[in-house]
Amino acid sequence: MCELCGDANHQVPVSRRSVLLAGLGLGAGVLVGCNQIPTLEPDVPATLELQAVAAPSIAGTSAWNARPSSSPVVLTGAKPDKIIVHHTNDQNTTDYSQTRAYTLARNIQNFHMDSNGWIDSGQHFTISRGGFILEARHRSLETLNSQANMVSGAHCPGQNDIAIGIENEGTYMTTLPPQAQYDQLVTFCAFICQQYGIASDRIYGHRDFIATDCPGDMLYAKLGQLRRDVATKLGTGNTISRVWVTTKKPDTGERVRTVQYLLKSRGYAVTADGVFGTGTENVVKSFQTSKGLTADGIVGRYSWESLVVNVQSGANGDAVRAVQSQLKARGYAITVDGAFGTGTANMVKSFQTSKGLTADGIVGPDTWAKLTS
Ligand SMILES: [Zn+2]
Repeated sequence: MCELCGDANHQVPVSRRSVLLAGLGLGAGVLVGCNQIPTLEPDVPATLELQAVAAPSIAGTSAWNARPSSSPVVLTGAKPDKIIVHHTNDQNTTDYSQTRAYTLARNIQNFHMDSNGWIDSGQHFTISRGGFILEARHRSLETLNSQANMVSGAHCPGQNDIAIGIENEGTYMTTLPPQAQYDQLVTFCAFICQQYGIASDRIYGHRDFIATDCPGDMLYAKLGQLRRDVATKLGTGNTISRVWVTTKKPDTGERVRTVQYLLKSRGYAVTADGVFGTGTENVVKSFQTSKGLTADGIVGRYSWESLVVNVQSGANGDAVRAVQSQLKARGYAITVDGAFGTGTANMVKSFQTSKGLTADGIVGPDTWAKLTS
């Protein structure tokens, strides 16, 4: 007998059960429909599932031909407890190339060593306006990967042994960073938070600790959004109360078709044929990479949460087709035409009522999760 729901006709494997309960943080009574046990992404321990953010590409000091430090850098022997965001106060160049990024890294190191008299670059990392992430002070990357140690920096008095410093190329008093640079800042902060177990609300601006314009009025004002974006990337931005059913190769059926429609709605070239083949898998991997997720081609909860879009009356297109096709597969008399009119809205409301959701006719994440369960 199932220990979760008492159904005599099925059993929950012990390994799966523990993973489910640990991963979802749910009591047994919350799991419904145990005869359709949802699987997680992929079937691994919950602690590993928190590794949602793939390592971004980071150019080490050797890549940009750094000078050796004038004396060995010092390791603190402990993890940092925060991230501090800086701007370099440089011109806002429109040279977004890797060459420019490497030149920038060398210029900063030369200035910090030759003018400031420091042993090496002061900050741990740099992000160029083109979105290139570079190790600045030697061993910053090695210690980030160790998840247990950091290099003592020289970027913010009082914080150098407890805060990772990121210099963002440019001056952000009256303008925001280019999108590519901001996106990389989000991804990289999320990765650092993940590596060291730092909460996303512990991302600060230089001016939080000392009288300075840094990181600029505009970028400083954006830090709230940065913390929220990092939380979303880490999967801590929302409580995971939704149960998502993992979909992967070689699954077939309506759930696969939903994935395909949603990918199409995002501009990916994929056929909504309900067959999860290699083509769909490759598109899923591209999508995951674009969202900073592990590109494993498996649509689990993090991928679902990133994939779904809210649709409601007046919407058109493939995301609407996904909703209509799901409703049709569930017996609703609906035409899959991609136009979200009154008829579709009424059927969505009816579906929501049947699942105990608020019948507002808006297909948000909770409704998507039920539609694909
Ligand atoms: Zn600063």
